[in-house]
Order: sequence, then structure tokens, then C-alpha cells
Amino acid sequence: MKNAPRLRLARLPTPIERLDRLSARLGVDLWVKRDDLTGGAEGGNKVRKLEWLCAEARARGADTLVTCGGIQSNHCRATALVARRLGMESVLLLRTADTTADPGWEGNVLVDRILGARIVLVTPEEYRDRAARLAAEAESCTRAGRRPYVIPEGGSSATGVLGYVMAAEEIAGQLAACGGPFDTIAYACGSGGTGAGLAIGARAHLGGVRTVGFAVCDDRAYFERTILGIAAEASDRFGLPPVAAVEIDDRYKGIAYAVNRPEELARIRAVAREEGLLLDPVYTGKAIHGLLSELERDRFAYGRRVLFVHTGGVYGLFAKGREFEGIA
Ligand SMILES: *Cc1c(COP(=O)(O)O)cnc(C)c1O
Repeated sequence: MKNAPRLRLARLPTPIERLDRLSARLGVDLWVKRDDLTGGAEGGNKVRKLEWLCAEARARGADTLVTCGGIQSNHCRATALVARRLGMESVLLLRTADTTADPGWEGNVLVDRILGARIVLVTPEEYRDRAARLAAEAESCTRAGRRPYVIPEGGSSATGVLGYVMAAEEIAGQLAACGGPFDTIAYACGSGGTGAGLAIGARAHLGGVRTVGFAVCDDRAYFERTILGIAAEASDRFGLPPVAAVEIDDRYKGIAYAVNRPEELARIRAVAREEGLLLDPVYTGKAIHGLLSELERDRFAYGRRVLFVHTGGVYGLFAKGREFEGIA
């Protein structure tokens, strides 16, 4: 990538595996890119972005990573872990309804706390102003004699996007071993960086393959705008092919971000039992529910060969265990 340094932080390449029983049942060739296996506690899609973000942080002499997300943010957990691998500190702005209550010791936030990330709880209203809040945190790090590097929500900056441009290149190198090109690549969309990287990478490395992002919050118009914005900046800065349009499906985001309907949890359980593939409740569970629901309606809705990107997030399950208890 033109002018961009990279650190090796992820275990790559991740495998692409066929989902045999789902493929047989649905009558379509369905595969999964195991980006849940990009690492141990840093695993999931965020560490691909962090390879580029942390390289930039290092190049600027940073010693503290400052970022934000929901209370069970996978991105914040991966950032806190990678910070320690690089001998750095992290500051996490975590969004939660009650900022006076203890954030708990479950799921991702347990990992954040074990790692000793500095956690700053913010209300949903305060979080709307996250760019300003991140800047203020960075400012106070600087006053304390540290050298902060701010990573936007989800690591979805032009720099972070390079992680998924590279993932597309990685997929291109694996096609021969998994039966040839795919007709569609499907993924869960939360802050847009994965989508932007895949959209650019699809053009640069995969012959313009169709990509479909299943939104887990906000809506189609928001993500089309956001993804095209990030992609334009990345294409411009790193000399990559421009992206003219992206496809987002927002019909399966459900009640709200990180809130689950019983059918989503039932789908996670069904896929676990049918394929031995464990998905997360916030992102991949909703996305696979959307993908499989559409395939059940029309098995060729996405062509004959479909690749689903498993972007990780399994720690989120361990903050929601009790919700599975009531699922019929
Ligand atoms: C962050 C995340 C996503 C969404 O990726 P974005 O690049 O933020 O759109 C999908 N799945 C999991 C498990 C995530 O943690």
C-alpha cells in the first residue's frame, strides 16, 4: 500500500471453510472466511485495521492508544490488547446508559479491565460528541506527559480501511483452493471500515465482486454515505481504485444496536448446532440471520457461491448468556 507502514499483529491468512450442511440444506454454495481466527484475545476484524493504525501510531511516536465504543466493544478490547503487545497504554471511552454503575466483569469489558485499560464511561448523549471527547482525552494524556494516538470508533478511518483491502487480496489468493470466485461477499456492518475496505478490495483484487453489508445499527443511507466517505479518503490517500456505490441491507438490524430479538439468538444457536460455528450476538449473529433468511426465501439471491466474513466478537456472547435461557 502506497506510503503506509504496517505492523504484523494478526494471524494471517485466516482459513476459508465450506459450510457443508447449510450449503446442502439451502441449495447454494456457502463458505465462511474465518476472521474470528485473526488472533487470540485480539481476534476478529479489528486487528486487521490495527495493523495499519498502530503502525501509524508508532511512526508518530505514540505511547497511548485512545479510542471509543459501546460498553462491550470488540474494537476497544482488541485495541487494549494490542496496546499491551506493543508496550503501550490505552484509554477507552465506553458508552453505557448508567455511567455511575460499575461497568461489570463480563465479556469484552472483563478483558479491558484485566489489561488495565483506562476506562472512561460516557452516556449515549455524550457519545454523540465522541470526536470531541476523544480529542479531549488525548489532550489530557498530553498534559500528563504521554503521547496519545486517537483511533476513531471501530478503527474505521482511511488508514484502518487498509486492513480489509488486504483481506480482499488475501481472499483472492485463496480462491483457487476453494472452488473459484465467489458471486457475493457478505459481512456485518457496524462502523463502515470493513465495508469500505472490502468495497475497495473487491475492485482492486476480486474483479468487482458484489459485497453486501448487513447493518447492525443506523440505516442504509447512513452507511452508504459513511462507507463512500471513508473509501474516498482511503482511495485518494493510498492510490487505490475509487468506489462508486456500496450495497447495504438494513432490514435485519433488529430492535437496536446490541439488543437482540429471540429469532437472532435462535439463529446463533441453530448455526452453532448445524455447523459448529459460533457467532456473536451484536454483529455476525444479526448478519447471518439476514443472510440465511434471504437465502431461505431465494437460494440464488446472492448468486451461486457466497462467502460470509465471520468478523469475530465471540466475547459479546459471554455478556448475554442469560438471554439464551428463554429461547424456545
Ligand atoms: C466491529 C465489528 C463489526 C463491524 O465492522 P465495522 O468495520 O465496524 O463495520 C463486525 N463484526 C464484529 C464482530 C465487530 O466487532
